[in-house]
Amino acid sequence: MLCGAMTYTGRFAPSPSGALHQGSLVAALASYLDARAHGGRWLVRIEDIDAPRVVTGAAGLILRQLAALGLRWDGEVLYQSARNACYRAAFDTLRAAGHVYGCACTRKEIADSLIQARGALPVGELPYPGTCRGGIPGGRPPRAWRLRVPPGPVRFDDRWLGPQCQDVAHETGDFVLLRADGLWAYQLAVVVDDAAQGVTDVVRGADLLGSTGRQRVLQRLLGLPEPRMMHVPLVVNALGQKLSKQTGAPAIDTDRPLAALAAAWGFLGFAPLAQRGSGVAQWLQDATRAWAARWKIAVRH
Ligand SMILES: [Zn+2]
Repeated sequence: MLCGAMTYTGRFAPSPSGALHQGSLVAALASYLDARAHGGRWLVRIEDIDAPRVVTGAAGLILRQLAALGLRWDGEVLYQSARNACYRAAFDTLRAAGHVYGCACTRKEIADSLIQARGALPVGELPYPGTCRGGIPGGRPPRAWRLRVPPGPVRFDDRWLGPQCQDVAHETGDFVLLRADGLWAYQLAVVVDDAAQGVTDVVRGADLLGSTGRQRVLQRLLGLPEPRMMHVPLVVNALGQKLSKQTGAPAIDTDRPLAALAAAWGFLGFAPLAQRGSGVAQWLQDATRAWAARWKIAVRH
């Protein structure tokens, strides 16, 4: 079931940019059930590193919503905003090993050089063309700090989606670790925190599938363990957009916790559970058993 004697440790890591909605609940529930089905630990981490996106009071609200839904976490909640020194230490390790370089390019310069090289801008996030890889041209000061991404594809198995292959060097290029605004990049913080918290299994929404390759690259360069991955389907609205506060997703109604849980459960492809009593505790126990059966998880106590 698990390699070695490592205790299954999963986590739910919301950004406090708003209340939990049906989309974030799907990821939270899947991650919770997988941890409980393995007899493991389930941690909550508040990813409040991107200060401009943090909404005051949202972290507390999310924790109260999880509690009302019966999704009880283990241990202390970890706040990324308190972990600057840990991200700095990982950054310094990478830099000392020659994996980091300064970059003076603005977004516009990156776009211009991509248009020049490829004739058009690629869709989505812009890959970095490597302009400053051999030193910043013209002696300008660095704005951001980038990781020198090793060439070659990154392969990993996704428990939901199957074998994956991402060519980070080609698709993303040398990505930013320390942003021009002085904030640590999401990828670095996630990798450092997953290792620090002993996370063995990441279960999260498929919107984050594309970042897994970058996280694997960082884990390998830093000599950190590579958690098993499971990316669950993403809830989208009628326009095909990911549910979020920005696309107007309503907050979970915690006055009706069973209805919210059942909707997330159905979205994950499971048949409704027989309602035994009215409590979320019983419902979650039944759901954990069905999840274990679906993924053939043999629980060892
Ligand atoms: Zn540059």
